[in-house]
Amino acid sequence: MRQPIPFPLSKDKTFFESLNDWIGDVFYDELPEKGYDLRDEQIFMAFQMEKALKEKSVMFAEAGVGTGKTLAYLLPAIAYARYTGKPALISCADETLIEQLVKKGGDIDRLDELFNLNLDVRLAKSRDQYLCLQRLEGAKKRSGADFLDDIESRLPEFVNKTFSMQNTYPYGERSSFPEINDDQWQQVNYHPIQNCAACELRNKCGQTIHRNHYREATDLVICSHDFLMEHLWTKETRIREGQTPLLPEFSQIVLDEGHLLEFAAQRALTYEVQESTLLDVTESILADNVREKTLNMIEETIDLHNEFFLLLRKNIVASDEDRKAISRDPALISLGKGLVNHINLLLEEFVFEGELFTIPEYELRLAEEFFEKYIFSMGLFTEEGDAVHWLEIKDDIETLVIMPRLVTDILDEKLFDGKVPIIFSSATLSIKKDFSYLSDSLGIDKYQSFTVPSPFDYEDVMKVLKHPLEQRDKFQRAYDLLSSGEQTLILFKSKMDMENFKQSLPLDHAYKIEFEGDRELSTVVKDFQDAKFQVLCSYHLWEGLDLPKEALTKVIIVDLPFPPQDPVFEAKRKFSSNPLEEIDLPFMQLRIQQGIGRLIRTSEDHGEIHLLLNEDELALEHLWQEVLPVTAQNFLKL
Ligand code: SF4
Repeated sequence: MRQPIPFPLSKDKTFFESLNDWIGDVFYDELPEKGYDLRDEQIFMAFQMEKALKEKSVMFAEAGVGTGKTLAYLLPAIAYARYTGKPALISCADETLIEQLVKKGGDIDRLDELFNLNLDVRLAKSRDQYLCLQRLEGAKKRSGADFLDDIESRLPEFVNKTFSMQNTYPYGERSSFPEINDDQWQQVNYHPIQNCAACELRNKCGQTIHRNHYREATDLVICSHDFLMEHLWTKETRIREGQTPLLPEFSQIVLDEGHLLEFAAQRALTYEVQESTLLDVTESILADNVREKTLNMIEETIDLHNEFFLLLRKNIVASDEDRKAISRDPALISLGKGLVNHINLLLEEFVFEGELFTIPEYELRLAEEFFEKYIFSMGLFTEEGDAVHWLEIKDDIETLVIMPRLVTDILDEKLFDGKVPIIFSSATLSIKKDFSYLSDSLGIDKYQSFTVPSPFDYEDVMKVLKHPLEQRDKFQRAYDLLSSGEQTLILFKSKMDMENFKQSLPLDHAYKIEFEGDRELSTVVKDFQDAKFQVLCSYHLWEGLDLPKEALTKVIIVDLPFPPQDPVFEAKRKFSSNPLEEIDLPFMQLRIQQGIGRLIRTSEDHGEIHLLLNEDELALEHLWQEVLPVTAQNFLKL
């Protein structure tokens, strides 16, 4: 049920004037009375938030760790959601951060209790965070692995019975299967290749049930950047096709860790194709009455597609990165163009099949849609300049990934259109108060911004220690640093570096170490916070992770976090007049600020940051030192 606005409205004041008064009352009187230690920076941020809501503007709100930014944006956001009758959308960088925001005792929970708001908060996770019943069934046919039986045994009863919609409930989230590793999960979760609209298990599917649930939210819908982007890109098509958009209407967007939005936008616009994709799609339209000409053209298309993949494999540029670059061999490009021409002709034949009703209308429409996307992406692949592409190989399955190089135009049209206020909130959005790296990458011309510093006295609570080392000695040093027994986070530049560290560990080491990807991440983070193990190794938790007090007292940064040498960043570098200054250094500086921000979360925190630095990294000291809150000292050997 919709709850009232948390303050009275009167005829002689606008909503925003009343909101302004309420913010004053809450932050100057009520919270201090309830024992809250408030800071001017936090109050300033809450008033800025009110201004952004009133002007429906884009605002970069950079608030240092400890300013209490979540409280500062949540209170005005909830009031505005209730006033407009549409929930606020809080978008987080990933699913772990979503869980962190809504956990028991977290910011939302505390706020609800403090003001008795009776908050209605619902989670809208990315689609790959849900179990797919079809894929589970498929995986079971292929393998008898125990984890599949385990998942099956934990499905709700209504999945295997006739059921009524009243008796269903949300299930099947990634976080409900914490013991399953990422590779196992990826055999059974939703995959973009699934055709949910035509799935007969749709009404029993956990993803559908979750979607119906969060659609009814009145105060807050919490999603990931990836899912927000998927919603924006698919909204119009879904409405056209008579489907509901992925997310409900919302009154405002708060982008937590908003500097990661560009990657989410690129990922959402990415097109993936596997060698088997075409076969799966064409099988669904091979009805008895299909004309011979169309059948032959389908067969030729499959042959050309397979030939294309064969040549693609020969043109992979060998590298250690997960994303393998593809060299632009003229034969490959010409084959891609030929494929596009051929599919265009096939689409013409589909028009005849449609008129003759030889293929069921729905299947035909899906196939047409698939081929139209295929043509678009293959067009991007064959034309130089507009797209970034690479080949990913996982479990011996190759996926060609095609991603647009720039997302600024589309973001401008679909997100920054001035219809709702958009607030970027993070501890690090700028480099020394200059927001241009972020605004340029997202194509935002008009924005308001402010920076409020962290209230912590870092000189007293944080030590940054630099370790001049040969690159080959870094893993040993990281290992040696564990002997202090403290709760330690080791941050790696890439998954491969983390895996190499794992391999380098002595078989009989005495530490309890967990690695990102070995179990469901939010469960791992929770166990780490509860000190169930000592060392957390990650390549992805550079931002957002909130582990106060003794839950984390040591952070080891193995390499300076420069962006990878992969096709996405290569494309950015290629189109920059000064790649080092415009791409690599700002990325590294932002990320290192994020990484060290994991250590001090509350006024009771303390700890050490250890930077392992080779000769080249030491030579850049002036660049990383300028973004650190304290001066790095030389580490005195163990
Ligand atoms: S609706 Fe989609 S995700 Fe759900 S079971 Fe069917 S194909 Fe899988």
